[in-house]
Amino acid sequence: MNPQYFINLEDEFGAHNYKPLDVVLARGQGVWVWDVGGNKYLDCLSAYSAVNQGHCHPKIMKTMMEQAQKLTLTSRAFRNDQLGLLYKELCELTNSHKVLPMNSGAEAVETVIKAVRKWGYKVKGVAQDQAEIIVCENNFHGRTITIVGFSTDPGSRENFGPFTPGFKIIAFGDAKALEAAITPNTVAFMVEPIQGEAGVIIPPAGYLKQVKAICEKNNVVLILDEIQTGLGRTGKLLAEEHDGIEADLTLIGKALSGGYYPISAVLSNKEVMDVLRPGEHGSTFGGNPLACAIARTALKVLVEDNMIENAAAMGAYFLSQLKEKIQGPHIKEVRGKGLMLAIELTPDAGGARQYCLELMAKGMLCKETHENTIRIAPPLVIKKEEINWALERLESVLAAA
Ligand SMILES: *Cc1c(COP(=O)(O)O)cnc(C)c1O
Repeated sequence: MNPQYFINLEDEFGAHNYKPLDVVLARGQGVWVWDVGGNKYLDCLSAYSAVNQGHCHPKIMKTMMEQAQKLTLTSRAFRNDQLGLLYKELCELTNSHKVLPMNSGAEAVETVIKAVRKWGYKVKGVAQDQAEIIVCENNFHGRTITIVGFSTDPGSRENFGPFTPGFKIIAFGDAKALEAAITPNTVAFMVEPIQGEAGVIIPPAGYLKQVKAICEKNNVVLILDEIQTGLGRTGKLLAEEHDGIEADLTLIGKALSGGYYPISAVLSNKEVMDVLRPGEHGSTFGGNPLACAIARTALKVLVEDNMIENAAAMGAYFLSQLKEKIQGPHIKEVRGKGLMLAIELTPDAGGARQYCLELMAKGMLCKETHENTIRIAPPLVIKKEEINWALERLESVLAAA
């Protein structure tokens, strides 16, 4: 099948809000995907970490097929026999007290913004409409108007105002900046444990621990956006475990879907979630039985198939090999945690995209983030031989850099 046919259809009839690599995929299995011409590629993006479990995981597929034949959607006007089980299993797995299910990551972010504002008024005693939420420079939390309003990326926010007030932006990785920004009206601090879309930016060691202590001291809710870092990506179930802390609110999404069906969730301590009362928040599809059944199996296989341990071991191997083999005047830095890896090129290397195109020609799918960073984030089921295969290609393509 001619890929150009599909590319033309997208260009003619679709909105142009993405600039994908021109590879038209038709099939996936584990870490591999195939295009319409039958060419095989190693997926090193994993749909931005939404297919951590690998493409078309057979156990998740089985659950999806079985649940699809039983019950798919009830709305929350009625109860279903999957939602409570997902709540229980998620709470036990993550040591949380309460769960609120939504569909997309951005919706989970919007949900916590509502929850912490109300918590601020009802519990902390902030005066009406004065609540402030602190966020970080170069954050990525989604695409709604409220969320892009506190983005610092011009491409995300320009021409989309006016924006929602009540947000304050500080430097990422700087605990002192947080301490200085807190006022009596501060209700929450929201941060990614590792900034994914900003280019896999890892904060100084101990940052989250310091941030947690500052939030506790000032009665500020700590929100960790683990939509990308969570569910095994960094070699732990949640990235917060690297710092030995527990956030008050944790956002997960992406891989909760198992790559099959969108679902996100807010994990909460009891106090914050309990401020939301019936009628104040919801979603028609949020918590539907199909999504819940799939998410339950998506979580189960992460644990049962040892994907989190594999991410830690294979990530450490991949990073050490990258550091050893990918060097040169145009390689600014190689970094990562677990299987959330990045190669940052110097600004004069001509941009990361050309290297992504060359890698694609050699059977490896990576996507540039911003101008100069190649992110490498394969499904968590990747094996050593497959990493070696990827390293050969990276070496040959980046030798020119
Ligand atoms: C992807 C992502 C989101 C948004 O998730 P969507 O499902 O695309 O709305 C939010 N935060 C982080 C850290 C993400 O990586």
